[in-house]
Amino acid sequence: MTVSHTLEADADVLRRQDPELAGILLGELERQSTTLQLIAAENFTSPAVLAALGSPLANKYAEGYPGARHHGGCEIVDVAERIAVERAKALFGAEHANVQSHSGSSAVLAAYAALLRPGDTVLALGLPYGGHLTHGSPANFSGRWFDFIGHGVDAETGLIDYDQVRTLARTHRPKAIVCGSIAYPRHIDYALFREVADEVGAYLIADAAHPIGLVAGGAAPSPVPYADVVCATTHKVLRGPRGGMILCGHELAERVDRAVFPFTQGGAQMHTIAAKAVAFGEAATPAFTVYAHQVVANARTLAAGLAAEGLVVTTGGTDTHLITADPVPLGVDGRTARGRLAAAGMVMDCCALPHGDARGLRLGTAAVTTQGMGEEEMGHIAALCAGVLRGAVESQQAREEVRELAGRFPPYPG
Ligand SMILES: *Cc1c(COP(=O)(O)O)cnc(C)c1O
Repeated sequence: MTVSHTLEADADVLRRQDPELAGILLGELERQSTTLQLIAAENFTSPAVLAALGSPLANKYAEGYPGARHHGGCEIVDVAERIAVERAKALFGAEHANVQSHSGSSAVLAAYAALLRPGDTVLALGLPYGGHLTHGSPANFSGRWFDFIGHGVDAETGLIDYDQVRTLARTHRPKAIVCGSIAYPRHIDYALFREVADEVGAYLIADAAHPIGLVAGGAAPSPVPYADVVCATTHKVLRGPRGGMILCGHELAERVDRAVFPFTQGGAQMHTIAAKAVAFGEAATPAFTVYAHQVVANARTLAAGLAAEGLVVTTGGTDTHLITADPVPLGVDGRTARGRLAAAGMVMDCCALPHGDARGLRLGTAAVTTQGMGEEEMGHIAALCAGVLRGAVESQQAREEVRELAGRFPPYPG
């Protein structure tokens, strides 16, 4: 059965019982299939992952860990979680994996809970430079409960200022250093962060929510050998269900597990954990290695195309799936640009840029690469973006071109 048949069967059940929601399910499938998903954090999960997510495992309560649950009837879901853990450990070469975190943010919360006390000092990339909300935003628990020191990036190059990281670490003696970003397009020098952490006696927490899928496919360096704790999402480049994960060594395993449950979470979501296991299995295949490298090749081509059209690409390019760019040279600010591109069917985010206070565009190639698009299509997308931003291409005409392009690469064919 092809996935669209499965989706249609699901929709049929819903249509009979709840036509209003059935319409939304099909409307969203239509939106995802006829526009370009260039949000750097998004992807298309496989039919197998969707099947696990939509399974009766969703009914099961399972507080605790395999073999030590607070509920009866867990013998089958226990196997699912053990498989997910073993696959994650093998995929990333980690001694321990916790696959229960409900999201990337929950994983970071648990990592802090495992290693820190309220009031501790933490050094991380500042929010204006691509730090995540959980890296000390005053609107987030992290900014309220910990004393975050933000480091920056070089205003000229957009690259992490490692000298500043070292200087701030020496001055503030943080209990932990967090490395990871929502917008940094380059590889992170985990060995250097480890060296600085060792020098000041800090824990190193890698928040690899974005690059972890590239790590799985061998297309980015792994933080696992360097960080005390690695936090990640499973739904970005990794292409699994929406959720989080934590990797660490044997010594911290018990603290991490207790920080997830019972400290910050209740019952595990067994359908999601089964779907994570499916995704880890997929990510261990040669096809995923090819995918991860194609994601990066596509991002490099897209970045080069945008730069050739006159946008200012942060750091001059990318090592990953992620690009940030300033559209101002084309006569539009980031927010206006995002709106115009969305109207043309090219969906992406705004983000802070290292220089000045203008907002730029943040986009990524994980989803379009899953659809099977290659470098030729990236060139087309770059030209189409620039045409729309310059006002050279009518948004209606661009929308038609996008519809045609997306139609040639259906995310769920069949
Ligand atoms: C996406 C992301 C998160 C949060 O993931 P959610 O699942 O949305 O909570 C945390 N940290 C970084 C660096 C991220 O990119």
